[in-house]
Amino acid sequence: MAQKYEVRQLQQTQQQVKPNPFENALEQLRIAAEHLKLDEGIHQILAHPKRQLTVSLPVKMDDGSTKVFTGYRVQYNDARGPFKGGIRYHPGVTLDEVKALAAWMTWKTSVANIPYGGAKGGIICDPKHMSAGENERMTRRFAASITPIIGPYKDIPAPDVYTNSQTMAWILDTYNTIVGLMSPAVITGKPISLGGSLGRDKATGRGAVYTTVEAAKVNKVDLKKATFAVQGFGNAGANFAEILQTYGPKLRGASDSKGAIMSKAGMDAAKLVAHKEKTGSVVGFPGSQEISDKELLQMDVDILSPAALENSILPDIARGVKAKIITECANGPTTPEADKILHANGVFMIPDILANSGGVIVSYLEWVQNLERNYWTEDEVNSMLEKKITSAFRDVHAASLKHNVDMRTGAMIVGVGRVAEAVRTLGVFP
Ligand code: GLU
Repeated sequence: MAQKYEVRQLQQTQQQVKPNPFENALEQLRIAAEHLKLDEGIHQILAHPKRQLTVSLPVKMDDGSTKVFTGYRVQYNDARGPFKGGIRYHPGVTLDEVKALAAWMTWKTSVANIPYGGAKGGIICDPKHMSAGENERMTRRFAASITPIIGPYKDIPAPDVYTNSQTMAWILDTYNTIVGLMSPAVITGKPISLGGSLGRDKATGRGAVYTTVEAAKVNKVDLKKATFAVQGFGNAGANFAEILQTYGPKLRGASDSKGAIMSKAGMDAAKLVAHKEKTGSVVGFPGSQEISDKELLQMDVDILSPAALENSILPDIARGVKAKIITECANGPTTPEADKILHANGVFMIPDILANSGGVIVSYLEWVQNLERNYWTEDEVNSMLEKKITSAFRDVHAASLKHNVDMRTGAMIVGVGRVAEAVRTLGVFP
């Protein structure tokens, strides 16, 4: 009896510290709506996803059994252009998480000023414990299930947590087989051999570096002498670290799902990537010592990048953050309560919908290249990315100064403002 009670208590505490991401997204929207003095009807439209699809995916497993997975595609808003957003494979996926991620995609494409709406997909699964064959069969069944609602001018998926260019190739092949076309523009983040863009794989990390460089200028942080830490050494976090260190900062701390490490002397990000590829984790990197996730997030560094999942910077963590700049490579890592604390403590936030928009910006460049059948060099792609994300940074920074608010609210004012204008102009059907 006592034991059961304890378990329930623990679950309740966990629920308290891990807020619902969609509620966080709605709270951010509410704050922006207040500053924008949004019409209540428009606010209500923006608080609801346009379409939510839940699919059951029967998959033949390697042992001969059949397992049914649940997948989602949430199409949040397409007033500014076709729905756009990644697909995530993770055991913790929920419909509310996918709704939040789809809302953030909507504001993100708007802040980046690319002609898209926002969407997101996810499958509740544990890809680390699935074979390549199981993963492919699940992916293809999901692709077939969402085929009626995706398309180059409808909804263009892309990679997200634990999906990659191979996943996109399977979705592309399945979609094209069903509709009887070869339409590379239905998906982005594809392999180069299938019409993918040069520079797409590193784009999220690279874009985050460009925003960090701008933030360092604004905050008079000398990058040559700066230090940084990254929570989550996946695609976004590792590329961010590798590219940022070429501007001078030293990587002092890093983590992944297996643990966190720090090194006072600094670590070479490329060597750390190689170590993770070899051993499966950043933990155990020569010359580093293991620390807790909380210690990592509260390290005495100039720049901190949460690059894992939602809800990593909670109020309790925020109170001890020592970094001057936070670059959110992850989506939704900071709760609205934690945001207030960071702002009050003078931490300069580069919010997710700005910081990690490099991924979708180069997705857009990939899509344009596919539609035009004309391909650019990696340097051309990188310089277009730099121009677009730097100009987004300046729009957001200007809005935050004008409204005297933090950068998250500045970004929401820009992002939500543009979507609201499109929704208002379209009018309400019928
Ligand atoms: N999953 C990425 C994101 O959260 C990329 C989305 C895309 O390229 O469509 O922004």
